[in-house]
Order: sequence, then structure tokens, then C-alpha cells
Amino acid sequence: VRVLSRHSYELGAKSVFDYPLSKRFDENDALLVYENVFVPWEKAFVYRDVSLSYRQWWDTPGFIHMVTQGAIRFWTKLEFLTGIAIKIAKANNSLGLPPVQASLGRLVAWTNAIKGLVLAAEANYELVPGGIDGVVQPNRELTHAYRSLGPIIYPLVVEEIKTLAGGGLIQLPSSYRDLLEPEVSDLVKRYIRSPGHPAEERVKLFKLAWDALGSEFAGRHDQYERFYLGAPHVALPAGFRESNAAVLEALVDNALSSYSLEDAVAEALGETPPARESAQTRAVRTGAAERPGVSTEAQLEALPIEHVPPSLRVGAPSGARPS
Ligand SMILES: Cc1cc2nc3c(=O)[nH]c(=O)nc-3n(C[C@H](O)[C@H](O)[C@H](O)COP(=O)(O)OP(=O)(O)OC[C@H]3O[C@@H](n4cnc5c(N)ncnc54)[C@H](O)[C@@H]3O)c2cc1C
Repeated sequence: VRVLSRHSYELGAKSVFDYPLSKRFDENDALLVYENVFVPWEKAFVYRDVSLSYRQWWDTPGFIHMVTQGAIRFWTKLEFLTGIAIKIAKANNSLGLPPVQASLGRLVAWTNAIKGLVLAAEANYELVPGGIDGVVQPNRELTHAYRSLGPIIYPLVVEEIKTLAGGGLIQLPSSYRDLLEPEVSDLVKRYIRSPGHPAEERVKLFKLAWDALGSEFAGRHDQYERFYLGAPHVALPAGFRESNAAVLEALVDNALSSYSLEDAVAEALGETPPARESAQTRAVRTGAAERPGVSTEAQLEALPIEHVPPSLRVGAPSGARPS
């Protein structure tokens, strides 16, 4: 086994005061090379079985749980970053300005949107398809919505806070030592401060902000959030496939079926258009769908199996279907 490690941000960080995140939270990515490695059979889960490999993700709650922990982590991360933004606005003495409050409003909205997805996915839990009675997993559709949105939101959040922060992220002494050495510290105390924020407090905050937004460690986080659950061309189509697209289409079908060419003619002649049954009502009456817009068995059967959420797959126990 060989470990090909990237450069360590932790090793490159001078001190916790200068790089509070790099120094303590660097997850050192590495490429693990296994060549001619002995793996005992009792440690093997799958062997040369592509279908089983695939089903580990899609026919178990494994993937949904993995994305859920990511969503909870991301929600906390956005809360932390938004907290930094509020403190920066205070340190810059700009909190009272409407454009700054608008910027904070955007950050809070993004944070709460992710919080909302986590809480809604838990509240709208589903039975694990084909699983043990009473075992549940977070709602797939909402969990995938986080997977799609996270990589879009993260760079927006970083850009928003960098714009709020201004040059203060850069105009910092190179090391905590500058705050200790009398000659330099007098200059720092005099020139790197803002109303109500003495130099040490301001430098400490902006160094933390830089480590979260601009350092090598921060750059790695930006790339991580964009890719760790798959590249966009993989994650976004999966989000679409896991959606209840039929429900969305049904709303449009409902609108389309509420008028017709014959109605237009009747209207032109001053006649009353014939009473019409909505697509939604018809679907419920004929039992074509279990709830308005849900695909019929025939529609689901026509789809490749991997495109059908397990809970809607033909033959899935009816108890496993989302209510
Ligand atoms: C810091 C970091 C840590 C990570 N940690 C983990 C981890 O612990 N576990 C894990 O499983 N994964 C992890 N990942 C994700 C994983 O390493 C890959 O980044 C991810 O699977 C995407 O593959 P890729 O990087 O080869 O990108 P690619 O698939 O090569 O895609 C890169 C870009 O190429 C273009 N592209 C490539 N193919 C297509 C196509 N067919 N159609 C359209 N555009 C295309 C797109 O612009 C795409 O964004 C991590 C990623 C990062 C950045």
C-alpha cells in the first residue's frame, strides 16, 4: 500500500492564532495505491459483482444516510460562516447599512434553506424500501435536493462574505508575533483596529475569516463542497431522477386539461363550455396513481430500474411507498 499525500496545510500553518482552521482541522487527502495487496475474505463485501456494488448504494439507505450527514455538516458550516459574516460587518462598523443587511439576509436565507431541507427530510421520512418493518430513512427527494444545491450555494456564500469583508482579510500582520513584539505591536494596535474592536480582536477575527474563505485550506473546502458528492454532471441528473417529476407534470396536465379547443369555440359562440374532469381528479378516480401525479405502474415499468426510486419500484412492498 502506498499513500500519495497532498501538501499538508496543517504543517504549513504557522500557529493556531494565524491559521485556526488549517492548524486543527486539515483532513489530509491522499491517493491510496493498493498493488498486490492481500485482502482477507472476511473483509470483502462484494467481489466482481457490478450489480451488487451498484445496489449497495441504491437499494440500501447507505447513500441517503451519507448525504444526510453531509447536509447536517453543511448546515452547521453555513451557520458558522454566516456568524463570521455578522462579526465582520460589526468589526467593519457596517452592520447598520441596508446593503450589508441585504447581504446578511442572503446568507441567512441560504443557511435556513439547507436547515429546512434537513428538517423536512427527517419529518417526511420514508420506510426503507424492502427493509425491516418500521426502519426508516430520510426523504430521498429532499436529501437529493441538498446534494444538488450545496455545491451551487457554497461558492456564493464565500463570495458574499469576501465582498463584505473587503481588504481587511489581507491587511493583517504576518504572525501573532507582531502583536507581541513591542515596536511592531504599537503600530498594529494603532493602525489595524476599528471602532469598538481593538487590534488583537480584529486580527484574530479576520485571520479566522481568511482561513475559512481564502487560505489554501479554504480553497480546498471550496473544491470539496463542489465535488465530494460527485461532479455536477453526476449529482444534478441524479437529483432529477430521484424527484417526483410526475407530481410536477401533473400540475401542468391539470392546467392543460382545464381548457380545450372546443372550449374556445364554445366561448366564441357565447355557450357554456362542457364540465371537465381534471387530470388530477381522473388519476385519483381511476386509481392510475396512488396520489395525484405519481407515476402509474406502467410508466414505472417502462423506466430503466436505476431511474426509479426504490420506494416506487414495481413489486416494492406497498408499505414502503411514501405516504
Ligand atoms: C477535496 C475533495 C475531497 C473529496 N473527498 C472524497 C471522499 O472522501 N470520498 C469520495 O467518494 N469522494 C470524494 N471526493 C470526490 C471525488 O474525489 C471526485 O472529485 C468526484 O467523484 C468527481 O470526479 P472527478 O474529480 O474525477 O471529476 P470528473 O468526473 O472528471 O469531472 C470534472 C469536471 O469535468 C467535466 N466533466 C467530466 N465528465 C463529464 C461528463 N460526462 N459530462 C459533463 N461534464 C463532464 C465537468 O465539468 C466536471 O465538473 C472529493 C473531492 C474533493 C475535491
